Amino acid sequence: MAAVKSQPTRIVIVGGGYVGMYTALGLQSKLRSGEASVTVVDPQPHMTYQPFLPEAAAGSIEPRHVVAPLRKVLKRCHVVTGRATKIEHASKTVTVETADGHIETLEYDVLVSALGSVARTLPIPGLAERGIGVKTIGEAIYIRNHVLSRLDQASSTDDPELRKRLLSFVVIGGGYAGIETLAELEDMSRYAMRYYSNLEPEDMNWVLVEATGRIMPEVSAKMGVYTVQQLEKRGITVFLDTRVKSLEGGHVVLDDGTEFDSDTVIWTAGVKANPVLRNTDLPLDERGRVRCTAKLQVEGLPGVWSAGDCSAVPDLSRTEEDPNATCSPSAQHAVRQAKQLVKNIVAVQRGKEPQDYVHKYAGSVAGLGLYKGVADVYGIKLKGFVAWFMHRSYHVSRMPTFNRKFRVVVDWTLALVSGREIVALGQINNPKAEFDYATKS
Ligand SMILES: Cc1cc2nc3c(=O)[nH]c(=O)nc-3n(C[C@H](O)[C@H](O)[C@H](O)COP(=O)(O)OP(=O)(O)OC[C@H]3O[C@@H](n4cnc5c(N)ncnc54)[C@H](O)[C@@H]3O)c2cc1C
Repeated sequence: MAAVKSQPTRIVIVGGGYVGMYTALGLQSKLRSGEASVTVVDPQPHMTYQPFLPEAAAGSIEPRHVVAPLRKVLKRCHVVTGRATKIEHASKTVTVETADGHIETLEYDVLVSALGSVARTLPIPGLAERGIGVKTIGEAIYIRNHVLSRLDQASSTDDPELRKRLLSFVVIGGGYAGIETLAELEDMSRYAMRYYSNLEPEDMNWVLVEATGRIMPEVSAKMGVYTVQQLEKRGITVFLDTRVKSLEGGHVVLDDGTEFDSDTVIWTAGVKANPVLRNTDLPLDERGRVRCTAKLQVEGLPGVWSAGDCSAVPDLSRTEEDPNATCSPSAQHAVRQAKQLVKNIVAVQRGKEPQDYVHKYAGSVAGLGLYKGVADVYGIKLKGFVAWFMHRSYHVSRMPTFNRKFRVVVDWTLALVSGREIVALGQINNPKAEFDYATKS
């Protein structure tokens, strides 16, 4: 009698970002043929390399090169372009709303929750209407076009109040996402200003608002102070220990009494776990993150794994100072957790023991515009050009696939030789306008 061939294990990964894509990438190379099938679900057809979003917004990198196409990279996986709307572990199913709008139910044997995070917002009047985040490539493209088109509008108006409003740019939140976005955009706008005969860089009002007493908690306090000094030298106004009270109608009101008008409000004040997790029967902590063990297994649910921004993974490198410490939401942890996830999933699949995830946060590197940066890695503190070079080298080394690394380096080289691109392609926000005009005239 012929032996009955066992069915391959069905592994479903929800989220194709850092954790999701790197886990799928590892599994497709480690799993033997017929051992398991891997399905990746993400509403975007690509993984976004988020640390490069500020440079994409500033035009130093072509936006398409900051994303890795999932179907091209994950050739041995099944990619579903859709949004998971529900996970029911009791029935081992994931409900997905696919790109064409129909609802699909995926059954799994092994689940990886890699749903990441969304912007953490506050009930500030006007924020929802006026604010924009920096989490997606679409936002980066929009912000670039929006900022550059403010310069075009400011140069063509005779109204001094309107000009002031158009040239006021506010970034709220002083973590690395906020600081890099602010610094890169200010640098780009300053460069662009040389091509506007009636505008001066001093006409711009770049403002950072941070609720705590320091910026960039990822680097030492000393480096945070240095970064503030560098930003202030460039004419950027930094408000520390300050909260935004209202943004209604683009009128910015701070809790120290400062008020001004601005057409550009960028919100980078932290992240929270993906809210879709509330529509699952996975165990969540008080911050809405999936409760995990240090082995990246979801507490009490064999066969379910979780990592990255959406997860509360114990930080074993800090248990002495705080027994309840969990890993911070960062690419640094996400990439390493994905590597451990691959090892653990394969180990369990083959009847072996999974291992703990242990990584001591190494510090951070941040770009502050062309040739400017700050780095604090393994206690080594670097500033200026060296830190900027380190920021670029580190991130390009982390960029997935040789293809993307190569394209990013070519972008930088081109910008070095031919200068920054300063054109606003604002039309992409209203692509039908020209054709509508043609059909009506
Ligand atoms: C501007 C910026 C700069 C940063 N710079 C740094 C840095 O310098 N260093 C550093 O360590 N970290 C940095 N980070 C943080 C880092 O990018 C994140 O910590 C990392 O991306 C987390 O990985 P993740 O896989 O958990 O989430 P993500 O990479 O965000 O992936 C989550 C994925 O889930 C998908 N998804 C969302 N909803 C659903 C759904 N319902 N169904 C299916 N899929 C869904 C998303 O489309 C996304 O692809 C930065 C972040 C930003 C925004």
